[in-house]
Amino acid sequence: MARCLPAAPAALLLSCFSLLLGLAAPAGAAAPKPGLLKEASQLRDRALADSDAWQHAWSLTTEVGPRPAGSAGDRAAVTWALTRLAEIGFDEIRPQPVEVSAWERGTAEARIIRPFPQPLVATALGRSVGTPEAGIEAPVVRFENLAALEAAKPEEVRGRIVFIDERMERERDGSGYGPAVQKRTRGPSVAAARGALALVIRSVGTSTHRFAHTGATRYEEGVRPIPAFAISNPDADLLTAQFAAGEEVELYLHSSARNLSPARSANVIADIRGAGKPDEIVIMGAHLDSWDLGTGAQDNATGVAILMETARFIAMMPRRPERTVRIVLYANEERGLDGSRSYTAAALQSEQRHVIGIEADGGAGLIYRFDSGVDEEAFPVIDAMREILAPLGIEGGDNSATGGADLSTLRAEGMPVLSLRHDASEYFDLHHTANDTLDKVDPEALKQAVAAYASVVWIAANVAGDFGATVPAGE
Ligand code: ZN
Ligand code: ZN
Repeated sequence: MARCLPAAPAALLLSCFSLLLGLAAPAGAAAPKPGLLKEASQLRDRALADSDAWQHAWSLTTEVGPRPAGSAGDRAAVTWALTRLAEIGFDEIRPQPVEVSAWERGTAEARIIRPFPQPLVATALGRSVGTPEAGIEAPVVRFENLAALEAAKPEEVRGRIVFIDERMERERDGSGYGPAVQKRTRGPSVAAARGALALVIRSVGTSTHRFAHTGATRYEEGVRPIPAFAISNPDADLLTAQFAAGEEVELYLHSSARNLSPARSANVIADIRGAGKPDEIVIMGAHLDSWDLGTGAQDNATGVAILMETARFIAMMPRRPERTVRIVLYANEERGLDGSRSYTAAALQSEQRHVIGIEADGGAGLIYRFDSGVDEEAFPVIDAMREILAPLGIEGGDNSATGGADLSTLRAEGMPVLSLRHDASEYFDLHHTANDTLDKVDPEALKQAVAAYASVVWIAANVAGDFGATVPAGE
């Protein structure tokens, strides 16, 4: 992945920057002052040369490992974060208790029993119920996509196992995920409402290897919960091929997954206190929990690691930022955004204002694009940030950023957001699989990420003026 990183030495980066400054000092009341831009570019170059986010990701994936919300691993991750953040130079670190839904995966088994018996690589979807102890043995009805299932008559589905075969498209911006994930979140309810016994989906992911991709599902109110499984892409091909004989296809499914009573977890919050406006917050968010199949390396140890290292470099600056720079490591993003909702509910009661946010939850690919979601008056600041990012090979995007999943609850209240887009071309080969482990992470790509996050956050935390509405809403 490092091959795309501009191999510019710091001196060259500095001269690029001086050139940009001379050519295009942004206009407007909100434009950052030249001194601030110089600090940001120096911070960028130091982070590019010396940052080591990979060490944090190594520590989290090695010393904690899988950390599904409510598990012992999750509690270990909270302790890990509190300990690790204390070594970084924050002014205040605190856990914020969060009640999280809890769920146990148990074991999953899927076998074709007719016409040509074979085992399939399968996993339960998160929050799925299990099967009866004896398992489920039934004929399969296959649908091209969720829309086809929605259009089906109950008599086509009743008493059968539904298989949704929809593929996810590979895209650099990860935009194939949104449409493909619908069958995972809504599929069980749609199938159950038509009388299905269980649901099997082609994994929401782009891997061609035999790894099933898990991920949360949800049962709509009033729907009888049915067991839900994902099978790997090659296994979905295999299952589809069985229909070619024109005979009835039957599956055996077994799962011991179960939902448990809610458990205790915590958001971990750490502040570098603002010197001038400590009650104005620039928030950096990443989720600390992960799925249980892999070690959650790119989802989301690297996001956590990038933000920790960004904060470490900001804390090493010769002065404190004007605004408070805050990291929030969120609880239970994966199975329902419990941490995000708890944090925002408390923020709405607070005297502190959230001026802008940025989230790291897009894997560990090189960052190629910078988007914003701010008021037009702040465009001069965004232009200045783009110029700081250009030497890192990051292009300007648009103003339609929505933040990430964890920041979505603050965004819904009107908080402006920034978004550094990681190249996600290969991310969904690993996402939510047993194969999401640290060996696929390039330490050099993480250096570029820290350089990018640190320089834009430094500008956001020091520039005069807001980016639009704040949370709670300002005057
Ligand atoms: Zn994630
Ligand atoms: Zn995830």
